[in-house]
Amino acid sequence: PDIPSLLAHWATERADDEVVRFDGRTWTWRELQERVHRLAGALRAAGVGPGDRIAVLDLNHPSCLELTLACAQIGAANAVVNFRLAPPEIVYVINDAEAKLLFVGPEFAAAAESLREKVPTVERLVRIGGADDEYEALLAAHDPDPEVHPVAPDDCFVQLYTSGTTGFPKGAMLTHRGMLAHAANVLAEVPMEAGAVVQVAMPLFHVGGTSYSFVAMTAGARMVIMRIPDPAGVLDMFVAERITHTFLVPALMAALAAVPDAADRDYSSLKILSYGASPIPLPVLRACVALFPGTLQQVYGMTEACGVVTTLGPADHENPDVAHRLVSAGTPIPGVEIEIRDPATGDRVPTGEPGEVWVRTEQLMAGYWRKPDATAAAITDDGWLRSGDGGHVDADGYVYVTDRIKDMIISGGENIYPAEIERVLAEHPDVGDVAVIGVPDDRWGEVGKAVVVAAPGATVDEESLLAYCREHLASFKCPKSVDVVAELPRNPTGKVLKKDLRAPYWEGRERQTV
Ligand code: ATP
Repeated sequence: PDIPSLLAHWATERADDEVVRFDGRTWTWRELQERVHRLAGALRAAGVGPGDRIAVLDLNHPSCLELTLACAQIGAANAVVNFRLAPPEIVYVINDAEAKLLFVGPEFAAAAESLREKVPTVERLVRIGGADDEYEALLAAHDPDPEVHPVAPDDCFVQLYTSGTTGFPKGAMLTHRGMLAHAANVLAEVPMEAGAVVQVAMPLFHVGGTSYSFVAMTAGARMVIMRIPDPAGVLDMFVAERITHTFLVPALMAALAAVPDAADRDYSSLKILSYGASPIPLPVLRACVALFPGTLQQVYGMTEACGVVTTLGPADHENPDVAHRLVSAGTPIPGVEIEIRDPATGDRVPTGEPGEVWVRTEQLMAGYWRKPDATAAAITDDGWLRSGDGGHVDADGYVYVTDRIKDMIISGGENIYPAEIERVLAEHPDVGDVAVIGVPDDRWGEVGKAVVVAAPGATVDEESLLAYCREHLASFKCPKSVDVVAELPRNPTGKVLKKDLRAPYWEGRERQTV
């Protein structure tokens, strides 16, 4: 029922089994528990108590999970900072969390030092790794403290920030109940059998890193943590560690498929390669189906629900009779309800009709930290999360996620879904990457613009791309112009930052959204 019990369970049942591998070192469950107990002692001695926050700013390292587990034990919470944020955003998150201690990796130590006076709640900075490993020194200086603060199931033990594609990041308070329900629901859909070896490649500040680790821990599996996922390194690890399960984002999948000798390795250990967190272009998906046949599982989800809410399993990736499902996010996992609602009225819409994806499950966060208004706007009184995503559910119960509702283009009163146009353009041989945004138009309010990165060696011709759209799309959906750029702005999980892409076109004007 709570995270400390999970650790205690496996530390008894599988005391000498490996739970973590990292950078050539390994920890057994017994060792992990002992380290967490020492940390609990150290945190208590530093004055961290129930309801307090600490923060971690580091690339992936087991210490982040240890700190999360230690916080769970003492009733505090680890606020994990997105290390790819710009310095002012990092300051924003640390201050938002009111972190008492800040744990930093070697790459961030100097920057953190220079931010010190801007984060007044931080009483102490602790360096992880490097020559003077203050983190290890802290562990060595404290005896194990096994006392568990009596936690309630809805207490927060880890605070992960939404990626901020729609505004400043918000601290989603993930709870003991939510995280354990998430793990149980994900494992009920696809179990991780005894002997599973789970690659943790995505950053721990994201549910794709932290929640995924808790799925592995719930299954009692062994995790191999990557400090930072370079594409060839991910593939090498599949082979060297005989990885059975992993979770990657589409941007990384595209990079894997582009590794020159990707097809020459032995991936026979892989059972489930999960991917999600943003839409995946079909050409990338097809390349990955060919590379990793029988293993692909798409997941759709969000931080607010601890991660996964729907999955599309391997069978649906390779069955030509249901090829249309390749663009779907699959069906809800056990324990998750999904409905499509009219975002304006909250009424259910008929099967197949577009609306907003609403989610109800035990997995939901307790709320956004110190943001009651944003919490009330996101979660209804009867427990439904408004995802902000547009989508529909077909007659077979498959969920199709189209776009963030705020990115939908409203042109002359018609709703245009950029994802549909992006999917068409991604199939054009000259297009390497593409995002479609709404730009202001005096006649129609806004019209679509395709922002395109040329495929390697290709040149993009505006007229022929627009003609291609007219061939494949209803005329009202066709973008009216094309811009060519070297690269699209993306966040760390690979989402295109459409707000940034739109900004120059909307300077001085107000954009209407639903
Ligand atoms: P913010 O709320 O601050 O804008 P964010 O919503 O990007 O941040 P996350 O919780 O990381 O923060 O992302 C969840 C969103 O990611 C979903 O609501 C959806 O828009 C998108 N997403 C997740 N999985 C998929 C998927 N399989 N296909 C398409 N989109 C997805």
